Amino acid sequence: GIDDSFFDLGGNSLDATRVVARLNSAGSALAVRDLFEAPTPAGLAVRLLERPAPRIALTARPRPARVPLGPAQQRMWVLNQLDPTSAAYNIPVALRLSGPLDAAALTTAWRDVTDRHESLRTVFPADAEGPHQVAVDAGVPLDLTEAPADVYAAVAGFAGAGFDLTVDLPVRARVLRLGAEEHVLVLVLHHIAADGVSVAPLARDLIAAYAARTAGAAPAWAPLPVQYADYTLWQREVLGEPDDPDSTTARQLDFWTRTLAGLPDRVVLPTDRPGPAVQSGASADVAFTVDAGVHAALRRLARAENATVFMTLHAALVALLSRLGAGDDIAVGTAVAGRGAAELDDLVGMFVNTVVLRTPVRPDVAFADLVAQVREADLAAFAHADLPFDQVVEAVRPARSTAHHPLFQVSLALANFEEPELEVAGLRIELQDVAHEASPFDLSLTLRERTTADGEPAGLEVTLGYATDLFDDGTARTLAARFGRLLTAVAENPHAAIGDVDLLDAQEADDLRTSAGPQPVTPVTLPELLHAAAAARPDAVAVVTDDRQVTYRELDARAALLADALTARGAGPGTLVALALTRSFESVLAVWAVARTGAAFVPVDPRHPQERIEYMLADSGAVLGVTVTAHHDRLPGSVGWLVLDGPDADTRLALVPQRPRAAAVHVDDPAYLIYTSGSTGTPKAVAVTHRGLGNLVAAQRETLALTAQARIAHIASPSFDAAVFEQLAAFAVGARLVVVPPTVVGGAELADRLRAAQVSHLVVTPAALSTLEPAALTSVEVLAVAGEAVGAELVERFAGGRTMLNLYGPTEATIWATAGPLAPGRAVTIGSAVRGVTPLVLDGRLRPAPVGVVGELYLAGDGLARGYHGRAGLTAGRFVAHPQVPGARMYRTGDLVRWVRAGGRLELEYLGRGDHQVKVRGMRVEVGEIDAVLAGLSQVDYAVTVGRTGPAGSPVLVSYVLAAPGCELEAEPLRAQVAELLPAHLVPAAVVVLDA
Ligand code: AMP
Ligand code: MG
Repeated sequence: GIDDSFFDLGGNSLDATRVVARLNSAGSALAVRDLFEAPTPAGLAVRLLERPAPRIALTARPRPARVPLGPAQQRMWVLNQLDPTSAAYNIPVALRLSGPLDAAALTTAWRDVTDRHESLRTVFPADAEGPHQVAVDAGVPLDLTEAPADVYAAVAGFAGAGFDLTVDLPVRARVLRLGAEEHVLVLVLHHIAADGVSVAPLARDLIAAYAARTAGAAPAWAPLPVQYADYTLWQREVLGEPDDPDSTTARQLDFWTRTLAGLPDRVVLPTDRPGPAVQSGASADVAFTVDAGVHAALRRLARAENATVFMTLHAALVALLSRLGAGDDIAVGTAVAGRGAAELDDLVGMFVNTVVLRTPVRPDVAFADLVAQVREADLAAFAHADLPFDQVVEAVRPARSTAHHPLFQVSLALANFEEPELEVAGLRIELQDVAHEASPFDLSLTLRERTTADGEPAGLEVTLGYATDLFDDGTARTLAARFGRLLTAVAENPHAAIGDVDLLDAQEADDLRTSAGPQPVTPVTLPELLHAAAAARPDAVAVVTDDRQVTYRELDARAALLADALTARGAGPGTLVALALTRSFESVLAVWAVARTGAAFVPVDPRHPQERIEYMLADSGAVLGVTVTAHHDRLPGSVGWLVLDGPDADTRLALVPQRPRAAAVHVDDPAYLIYTSGSTGTPKAVAVTHRGLGNLVAAQRETLALTAQARIAHIASPSFDAAVFEQLAAFAVGARLVVVPPTVVGGAELADRLRAAQVSHLVVTPAALSTLEPAALTSVEVLAVAGEAVGAELVERFAGGRTMLNLYGPTEATIWATAGPLAPGRAVTIGSAVRGVTPLVLDGRLRPAPVGVVGELYLAGDGLARGYHGRAGLTAGRFVAHPQVPGARMYRTGDLVRWVRAGGRLELEYLGRGDHQVKVRGMRVEVGEIDAVLAGLSQVDYAVTVGRTGPAGSPVLVSYVLAAPGCELEAEPLRAQVAELLPAHLVPAAVVVLDA
């Protein structure tokens, strides 16, 4: 009726674009939007009158000597010539023929069809000017063969062979005989000659011709009004020239360059692997259904938003991708039929065009509002869908890559094509699915609406195609399940924020809930820990240096003396003692002594620039310090220094009046302060309390397989908490700490010390480890890397014949938080939580990130530092309220991680930092401070960080290569080395060589 709404009668976006194209080809300038705004014939008629446009008639034309290719053909041709063996653009069609077959009639009927459609007998040879269309007289004949035992393989093989379009006709046809009355007709069309919609007229014509031929007649169809070549010539005229500003081409080019400016090059998906540099195109499918109730709700929602089911599903797809880490700016691609003119209805040919649909996706938007936003974006895109996709790509100039499809990598299609089921001359014909295992997309979602006889929603059939380069079947199934869960949730409550939809399945939610480390032990203080060590094995060697060995008894006794001297000078609970010592027996002794007094120690690297030392001393408020003569001169006089090897040291220590032992230390008093940020800028001190230390040593015993016989290397600088880690590893079990002199940083020198001392346990940064040869580590039974990301190559080299571990943690969570095994061939992860630690991987709304999805790592548990010394604001920003445990805090690490299943349990994969920090030489540095840090470097350093694109932004990985002035750097080997540093599924977006 004149007042019926197109959409109320079931019109969808695809049909809408066709309706508008059809009206326009009859002489008007409507946009798809007009149909949405005026969806009734009466309303539309008014608009038609308002917007007349001259019509360029589509008719059979005189053919020039050389018929050019249309833009869509051109694109197919170029892709084909890149790899003529590829089946990526094959359209396979299989028809099951049941009943008596008249083979001769079918053969003739096929010839009738190829005679009728010029597109089926066109080749595309190239000359000096490029490819052109040459229609030949005879099409490809139909061949008849016996079906082999494996029919599916035969069909797949026939469908999977390529075409060389310069010489081969773009179609193959074969009948496989399965039995006397059972056949399969397989047609394989190259996409240059057909599109999905072409299958209907093709099948229709073939059946009509077969019906006629079995009756001994020629088909009675009217000749086609135009052929594809006519369309090619007409289309050129309609689109006009790009340099004519009023042409369709110029206007649409302008739209697309504006609309797609700044689009991320590649959508971030929760893949299993990074995929090869050249995508294989191999794909597989997961199919599932959405029930009728949800389908009906989605339809109602579409209606309420004046949108279509396609738009609603598009909104759901981008909502899902965004929740899975794709960020807040997502493009998907879809196909538009492109058969505006009525003359094209019955033609076999390539009319379909590809349109990019780009939408913002904010996590706080309600689904219904997202549908409205998507609707706007889709309408605008559909209104500019005449410009061939290739020209859009050329104009937008995205970074081109052989690894992925340009502009979008996820496609969406709503198929509303009903399968024909026909009977002709006693022969029943049914369309069969052909496994089509090639796709240029990372993911492709195809939805088919099922309806009841009276047009009511009966459910959605969904096929999720995935690139097997990137995804495993299980991951694709999980994705499909999450999509289903999201659809159900938004159908139920379209007004909730998409960021709040629960995407976890029950098992996963349970696994995440139980991902905490073992239960915390009863808290103890550092002095209690050290006292227990000394009491347990008084005569065992505690510390070994180049020139001496000190037993626990002696260490304890000397620490007691020094502690008394410090106490006499005011050290005690609530005070801070600066330790200006490089790694040595003295630096260890001082830690024991300060612990005894109840004070907290704050290491200050005496080799650091004077201003930094002054700043740290003033900032910490330390009034007392311990040092040695060698450094004393450089240290500011604002602090009272106790010089351990000073001329009068012995007397000073001896003369101290014996004081009562300091007041009891509380586990929530600070045990030490560690300055975390780089060698410039404004360092901040993390105040770490005693509470986490008991868990630390318990977990060390468990994870590092420590025994009293262990020999633990002390190679960390005392100004990092890694030094505390090494000391406690030894003292926790009464083992020996092998102190490596501070001048030794790696290489042969370090190797010699490790060998000489028969070190059994080594904790080292990957950077330092890479300076060693595996042969240097023969005595090392447990090799732990820590402090920065380790690459698979180092694991390959060093894991053999020993336990290799990855230890992860920030200073703010008492040195470490997770640990896990490293082994060749095993995914490199940072393992799982150690005792007393609860890790949480959360998104921007503090919701748990599903398994496989990148989120930020938060840590909860007893080990959390008190905060940043004297910086309440900074502390409040990083130590935030635990969303699940009232009153508890969690520390926001700034690290991007994801849960992965490894070795049958959940482990964390480290992906980089999310906050513009890098680690240079073990120090956390703001990216903005790199220049200043460079000034202090003497060699090449690598640092890897992750930058963000927006507030909820998708992570973009940036690798920095830092070099001291004068270093010779070559980009290519560096790129390879940086890639090696990255977690397996990330590739460097950019390698920035910052040579000062
Ligand atoms: P810091 O507190 O100075 O030790 O720095 C902690 C930061 O170093 C963490 O937040 C991570 O970014 C990084 N980090 C520490 N250990 C590892 C590891 N095993 N793998 C990757 N990154 C690490
Ligand atoms: Mg650390």
